[in-house]
Amino acid sequence: MRLSTEAKELKPSATLAINELVMKKRAIGQNILHLGFGESPFPVHLSVQEELKKNVDKKSYLPTQGIYPLREKVSAFYKYHFNLDYLPEQIIVGPGSKVLVFDLLLALEGPLFIPAPSWVSYQHQAKLMKKPVHYIRTIAQQSYLLSPNDLEEAFQKYSQQKQIQKILLLNYPNNPTGQSYDPSQLKELASVARDHNTIVISDEIYGLIRFHGNKHQSIAKFYSEGTIITSGISKDRSLGGFRLGVALLPSLEQELLKSMISIGSETWTATSAPIQYAAIKAYDISSEITSFISDCTAVHQLIATYVHKRIENANIRCPFPQGAFYLFPDWNKYSKKLSKMGINSSYDLAKTLIKKWNIATLPGSEFGMLDNDLCLRIANCDYDGSLVLNKFRENQKQAFNDPENFVKSFAPRISAACDQLIRFTESIK
Ligand code: PMP
Ligand code: GLU
Repeated sequence: MRLSTEAKELKPSATLAINELVMKKRAIGQNILHLGFGESPFPVHLSVQEELKKNVDKKSYLPTQGIYPLREKVSAFYKYHFNLDYLPEQIIVGPGSKVLVFDLLLALEGPLFIPAPSWVSYQHQAKLMKKPVHYIRTIAQQSYLLSPNDLEEAFQKYSQQKQIQKILLLNYPNNPTGQSYDPSQLKELASVARDHNTIVISDEIYGLIRFHGNKHQSIAKFYSEGTIITSGISKDRSLGGFRLGVALLPSLEQELLKSMISIGSETWTATSAPIQYAAIKAYDISSEITSFISDCTAVHQLIATYVHKRIENANIRCPFPQGAFYLFPDWNKYSKKLSKMGINSSYDLAKTLIKKWNIATLPGSEFGMLDNDLCLRIANCDYDGSLVLNKFRENQKQAFNDPENFVKSFAPRISAACDQLIRFTESIK
């Protein structure tokens, strides 16, 4: 059988591939420290489990857009957490936000602009549908944040006519860097986007995993008419395997709404019925769910701060994380010595770490960085989420006062992974 060129070129997504590789290695007894996969490790909240049990007999095909009571809850959730006004009619529920991003790229005309680094899947989704992709490079010295100038320059370079429609994919808090934007930065980016007839797909799936008391703001606050927010329950509620995401559309975009529903209806039909009913609970704004989200976020912050401190003390450059559960360190200052060891790319670096040091990470090149930029994505998720959450709740003060001890005692694979990364770095010097 002959495949299309696009299908032939596509490989399994790097995030899922590394996870499967680690599972296989562990199954044959290899002790791999897993910094490769971004899956929040906390348990399914009991009230969501109960709701899922209650709805296990829901077996009918549901409306493609998602059931109304769920969209009502999503609407209230966005008002409560982000002070955003979206009617249930503007919301689409799909089987994960990944496929909703894909469908948006399919529905919307125009080239795609993505800051580098960016999450692995956007570029491949666009390439599958032959959409032109333009990376906008960002740098470590500016915490890998996209500046309005960078955006303006990229538009001028790749698209001579301002009025031709373009798409910008912005993700904050960011996978892979853990960085986010403050309102003034978003306002400026919105103004450039508006000026260049650019639709922003704003991937805010880590919006509630924001650290140090900073509240997430959406670019939709400054550019409601041109922004589509995508998000879901995979990250802040640790429900990745439930496969449920949402897209929030501008109020006047009836044609886009219809098109999204049509695409869904011809491909994935509707999101799983029991999962939609259980998600009504997951989108609750009651204190049991909101305190679950904030406790999990506090643990992510504690672990991210610990890992960041350890690797920075080992003289590895890494922007300080603002949210999500990733870090994006680089070994560029060791490039000459690494080259003598045969490591000339982030791919070589990640390969050496898994083969010789038993640490799984992902190379920066998977996130759109140049091959010879020696950066890696680290996901801080390799621990027993139920245990860590319980211990954190038992004594939050102590956890924050002595994070080293907390991580060593209850998330030992995280501290072991840091030890190992530091040993590797010392072996270069
Ligand atoms: N966006 C980003 C930045 C992600 O890291 C992920 C991770 N899975 C997704 C979107 C997709 O999430 P989901 O399909 O589980 O909603
Ligand atoms: N988002 C997660 C990651 O970046 C994994 C899930 C996925 O890629 O779909 O590791």
